[in-house]
Amino acid sequence: MVTHIIGAGLAGCEVAYFLAKKGYKVKLYDIKPEKFTEGHKSPNFGELLCSNSLRGDTLTNAVGLLKAEMRLLNSLVMQCAEKTKIPAGGALAVDRHKFEDCITEIIQSFENIEVVCKEVKNPEELDGIKVIAAGPLATQGLTKWIAEKTGKENLFFFDAIAPIVDAETIDYTRAFFASRYGKGEGKDYLNCPMEREEYLRFYRELVNAETVKLRDFEKDKKLFEGCLPVEEIAKRGEDALRFGPLKPVGLPHPETGKEFYAVVQLRREDKEGRFYNMVGFQTHLTYPEQKRVFRLIPGLENARFERFGRMHRNTYINSPQILDEFFRMKEDENIFFAGQITGVEGYVESAASGLMVGFYIHSLLKHGRIIQFPENTALRGLSSHISTYSHNFQPTNITFSLIPDLKERVRNKKERRLKIAERSLSELKEFVSKIDF
Ligand SMILES: Cc1cc2nc3c(=O)[nH]c(=O)nc-3n(C[C@H](O)[C@H](O)[C@H](O)COP(=O)(O)OP(=O)(O)OC[C@H]3O[C@@H](n4cnc5c(N)ncnc54)[C@H](O)[C@@H]3O)c2cc1C
Repeated sequence: MVTHIIGAGLAGCEVAYFLAKKGYKVKLYDIKPEKFTEGHKSPNFGELLCSNSLRGDTLTNAVGLLKAEMRLLNSLVMQCAEKTKIPAGGALAVDRHKFEDCITEIIQSFENIEVVCKEVKNPEELDGIKVIAAGPLATQGLTKWIAEKTGKENLFFFDAIAPIVDAETIDYTRAFFASRYGKGEGKDYLNCPMEREEYLRFYRELVNAETVKLRDFEKDKKLFEGCLPVEEIAKRGEDALRFGPLKPVGLPHPETGKEFYAVVQLRREDKEGRFYNMVGFQTHLTYPEQKRVFRLIPGLENARFERFGRMHRNTYINSPQILDEFFRMKEDENIFFAGQITGVEGYVESAASGLMVGFYIHSLLKHGRIIQFPENTALRGLSSHISTYSHNFQPTNITFSLIPDLKERVRNKKERRLKIAERSLSELKEFVSKIDF
């Protein structure tokens, strides 16, 4: 039986590599090199669309842990990154051309991978197992089919993400817990109150801050309706934010009853309350500017950002509605999704999901059932993210908020993260040694 993989990007190549190594036949489809999406340019596979960085490479960093897990599982992307890496401090950066050449050569070296240059518009025309790994710029023909199959309301074309702050770095002498009008649980919302002068200073810096340069295909204003970047709202006038995300009404200080000029709200991001999401702060500001400007908010002066905000063109599905924890369609067990289109975000996360899907299909074909990765790994964190219900599902990078915390209390953050990483890698090693990986 042949497994059909649609898209020879980072995720699709990982699936193909994993299955081909195990001896399965694979057909790998891509519109390249005959046609290109609006973002792709290289005729090669595994194209890096923008930056040449695969981000941090230390175990105290969630993406560093994810990479370590992928290396343990012989990831194709990690092998090629290793061979083509260039100096980049604590990050893993690659020579993009050599990297793409490496991926392409390895994929083409397998006799059991047939590469087909074709736009797949209807995956159901292909027999057997299919993997849709067509990425954030999947062609219109295919997205039309996805919308018909899953419901238009479950397909998104734009991604607006607010920053996440490490709860331990918030100043609780300024910030206070309270829900608007006293609704909701005690620690669901954290509020950073502003006096008039503080608000005006923040407002002035925000409207003048440096933003990311958009690509031509991202300038479509229609995409921004209903989900404006915080700096765009601010540009509408000095008070626009006070009538929008920084509305102070219903949020007096719980102890003093004092009312404020403006309030920034942060919503709890994980069960344990280790991280808080800045409500309404989707933004085009560059990462250094986010750090500088958002640290002007009272209570966030020393904030560490676990994830920065961003907005970009991104096709993705409402995975918790559509997929099970194995990236497989609930309604059609022959169809898997992999990569950025599932709501994982980033090169490494996309490749990781491809590696996982390769393994899931292998375990299904070999054992007749799908085996899941150990609970405390970063890989499993990605699988939980795409399959856990959320009223507002958003793509995400891997963060420690997706990996269960330690049972014991370790105060030093670096030490705690290292212990989480050690736990994950040891669980994964044991997993690999016990099953036919
Ligand atoms: C403009 C842009 C810039 C980005 N920059 C970064 C960055 O700097 N760092 C980062 O970590 N992440 C970035 N991302 C996010 C993401 O990590 C990358 O998009 C990543 O390449 C996703 O991997 P993928 O395998 O899911 O999709 P892709 O790597 O995009 O692969 C999908 C493949 O499917 C093919 N395809 C599409 N439709 C069809 C079809 N119907 N039939 C056949 N083939 C098809 C495409 O040609 C492509 O080769 C960016 C995303 C975008 C949109």
